[in-house]
Amino acid sequence: TITYSDRYTPDSRDQLLTKISRQLKPARFEHVQRVEATAIKLAKQYGVNVEKASIAGLIHDYAKQRPDKDFIDAIHRYKLDPDLVNWNNAIWHGVVGAELIKTELGIFDEEIIDAVRFHTTGNRYMTKLAQIIYMADYIEPARDFDGVEKARLLTSQNLALAVAYQTKHTLMYLLTNNQRIYPKTIDTYNAWVPQSG
Ligand code: GDP
Ligand code: FE
Ligand code: FE
Ligand code: FE
Repeated sequence: TITYSDRYTPDSRDQLLTKISRQLKPARFEHVQRVEATAIKLAKQYGVNVEKASIAGLIHDYAKQRPDKDFIDAIHRYKLDPDLVNWNNAIWHGVVGAELIKTELGIFDEEIIDAVRFHTTGNRYMTKLAQIIYMADYIEPARDFDGVEKARLLTSQNLALAVAYQTKHTLMYLLTNNQRIYPKTIDTYNAWVPQSG
């Protein structure tokens, strides 16, 4: 396994794993390790920093199992967009979780933090690292849904087309289920889907 340089986290990988495992139930802890492994493979393929891919994969759901009140407090404490209080864990754990990660894990690398921030909704601008985390979360080996094989193939062939594929399919899923659409999800759709053919 990979040894961290200590440029991006004050912890060794083992120390980081311990901190994450204290935040997550076993099934979720297993998921983040599969996302890490998937992200490392993609980073090697696409020439992205493997250490950043490992860290971002491991921490992307760091805040997923926090109580709502932690997010509400953080939205005020960090003076985030006040409209965030009208959303829920699905949106908070990435966007607000990114702030908790800086404070609690001492990880400040903007590219890693943005990859966490954008992992659920995407964003109109995403670095290759952010695209990789977005896709790794969607296609990690335990994911099983109609279209996952197509998503895996696209991810191995063309990252931008894969991002477009996930964005479109997630939006269709949300619409079909009468879910509220977070505005950033629409931005992501407009930036990635129409020109993807
Ligand atoms: P996970 O944390 O590994 O389970 O995966 P994600 O962070 O990618 O997604 C968390 C949840 O957010 C999923 O159930 C998505 O369908 C949901 N989600 C993504 N975008 C939106 C949105 O715009 N609105 C709502 N209501 N939910 C969304
Ligand atoms: Fe997530
Ligand atoms: Fe996701
Ligand atoms: Fe995840």
